[in-house]
Amino acid sequence: TSEKTVALVTGANKGIGYEIAAGLGARGFRVGVGAREERRREDAVAKLRAAGADAFGVPLDVTDDESVAAAARLIEERAGRLDVLVNNAGIAVPPPRDLPSTLDLDEVRRLLETNVLGVIRVTNTMLPLLRRSEHPRVVNQSSHVGSLTLQTTPGSDLGGVSAAYAPTKTYLNAVTVQYAKELSGTGILINNACPGYVATDLNAFSGFLSPEQGAAVAVRLATLPDDGPTGQLFDENGVVAW
Ligand code: NDP
Repeated sequence: TSEKTVALVTGANKGIGYEIAAGLGARGFRVGVGAREERRREDAVAKLRAAGADAFGVPLDVTDDESVAAAARLIEERAGRLDVLVNNAGIAVPPPRDLPSTLDLDEVRRLLETNVLGVIRVTNTMLPLLRRSEHPRVVNQSSHVGSLTLQTTPGSDLGGVSAAYAPTKTYLNAVTVQYAKELSGTGILINNACPGYVATDLNAFSGFLSPEQGAAVAVRLATLPDDGPTGQLFDENGVVAW
């Protein structure tokens, strides 16, 4: 088994996920770069290695049972256990397609499949490996837009109508609370990160933070001490009501 702390980041070939992998790599972690497309994955691994990180590629489509099972087998072979799982992979739809009255239900299913069921699938498949860790951490990449509190508090609303994407993050926040309850006492700490509004492909680069800045919250939650929090949503300023 690995002497180093072992992490898997899903959707690590670009955007915030890539920077989470880089941030953990810079802290001396052995980082599995979870990505579904070979060329994008290998390019990211090469770039991370060139920056000095101990990175290895993990073929991973979070919507595919077989792919996720194979990823767990690969991590077991390479490292014998998993210390940190960052469920970062996610998709969105552009604002005009995110209005409740005009939703394309197939698109809603696609978002749920990736942003919610993908996280559950990967987490459950990796749990046996996480249970072998002395300091297991799970971080789910969520968002302020999934906060019903912020959406319904005058002055705090984040703006745009989002009937497909935002509710996937609400569901993710909710299911994380349930994981935290079930896993209480196991040592596994599971929390949600809100990266802030980050310029990536997801929002056609309209965000104002860099992916590196956006990665900071997830990196912090991935490296919590044993007495750290569980079952909560955090942004760069602390706990977020959702
Ligand atoms: P990007 O579009 O840059 O990156 C998304 C990543 O997820 C890509 O690596 C993509 O891979 C991967 N991915 C998508 N579907 C799958 C799948 N089925 N299996 C494996 N990987 C997949 O977006 P961001 O970096 O912005 O988003 C990362 C996370 O942060 C998402 O969960 C997003 O919801 C969340 N977030 C982002 C915010 C922002 O402002 N950008 C704000 C709040 C939350 P591929 O290259 O193959 O498509």
